[in-house]
Amino acid sequence: MNTVTRFAPSPTGRLHVGNIRTALHNWMLARKHGGRFLLRIDDTDAERSKEEYVEAIRTDLAWLGLTPDHEERQSQRLASYEAAFKKLREAGRIYPAYETAQELEIKRKIQLGRGLPPIYDRAALSLTTEQREAKEAEGVAPHWRFKLDHDEPIEWDDGVRGAQKFDPAQLSDPVIRRADGSWLYMLPSAVDDLEMGVTDVLRGEDHVSNTAVQIQMFTALHAAGVGAQQNDAVDAAPRFAHEALLVGKEGKLSKRLGSLGCDAFRDRGIEPEALVAMLARLGTSLPVEPIADREELLDSFALDTFGRAPARFDDAELERINAAIVHLMEYDSVRDRLPTGMDAAGWHAIRPNLTHVGEAGEWWYLVTGPIDPPEFAPEDRDYLARAAQALEWSDDPWPMLTDKLKRETERKGKALFLPLRQALTGMNHGPDMKELLSLIGENEARARLEQAAKG
Ligand code: GLU
Repeated sequence: MNTVTRFAPSPTGRLHVGNIRTALHNWMLARKHGGRFLLRIDDTDAERSKEEYVEAIRTDLAWLGLTPDHEERQSQRLASYEAAFKKLREAGRIYPAYETAQELEIKRKIQLGRGLPPIYDRAALSLTTEQREAKEAEGVAPHWRFKLDHDEPIEWDDGVRGAQKFDPAQLSDPVIRRADGSWLYMLPSAVDDLEMGVTDVLRGEDHVSNTAVQIQMFTALHAAGVGAQQNDAVDAAPRFAHEALLVGKEGKLSKRLGSLGCDAFRDRGIEPEALVAMLARLGTSLPVEPIADREELLDSFALDTFGRAPARFDDAELERINAAIVHLMEYDSVRDRLPTGMDAAGWHAIRPNLTHVGEAGEWWYLVTGPIDPPEFAPEDRDYLARAAQALEWSDDPWPMLTDKLKRETERKGKALFLPLRQALTGMNHGPDMKELLSLIGENEARARLEQAAKG
């Protein structure tokens, strides 16, 4: 059976690092097994869903290189949900309820006051036909609940958490549809997973109790013939895996989520490959390393390496990974983002000094000039005048120059190298002089040495 995974964001805001991680892992799970990765836009909430966020989700996934094989939208699948609802209702698994939000809240408070878990008491189940008709005559439209089967425990083998077991009697029958006919998340998602042939649901551990409920929905839907064509030969429910949540270095991420989206990362000069390398392994037993090659990341990707402790997201670590990735990037992949005139040799010389590609311009002026050399002491000025004369051009002028000066002067080590670096670049440190001198060129290099010698 071919692996099918899905990433199912609600388009009510921008993706943040937590969603990106879920998307990435679903993409990886599908790619690793040669399967398909679906993007499912969960836009049943017409009021909060915005088209601009749908666009942003697509753009962000493209920037990350997590291209979906197929896209679905819940708002275009309402007929399927309606059909499933009808079947489940006929099968006695859906019932109308009439309590107001206030009434439910009071019930909850009373239960909590008595030290009981706030589980829905199923009062609506025992309403007689007359009582229901009376409610509707009063103009109260029902909302709808899925009736959990209390007979057997709900069990599954979670890809991350191992064996899971829930007592359905400890769960409330979930509301699946509002009185205005609109859908809550739970049922449409199960219908989609069945009808789209999803084999693996990988999501955050905040969904664990939803999974318990949805497992019963899968069974009920399957028995009612929903998704039969796609999933006839397989178990009703997909495999489930719930990854530990992502937290910040100091605890919760929620306050910072606004600054942890793709635009913000891109503006900070974070490469998608850095984010991918980090999120691929954060919270797993594998080391987070600057691996730009996705095949390499895919080779080691395995759910059984995922830990149950929260994964810690640390900006400083992301910056380190980014720098290391930048140092590996080939000229062709960055040329459009470099200062004009900067060629492959220039990129190669400058690259080790960057933490972000965007800083290339801050170093490239060392080649193009003008530079700002320091004041030199008289003996250094003599030395630099000598260097200007000694400069001979070749494919590799730097070792020729420094070898010659070493032979002809008493200087060695720092006294030999530093004045040259300062005169040629105006700085005490920076790119490898061997690469840089060739880029500066003979005339410009001699002019800089002569200028420094004059003081
Ligand atoms: N739209 C849901 C969410 O963003 C999808 C959850 C799921 O993966 O089933 O939480």
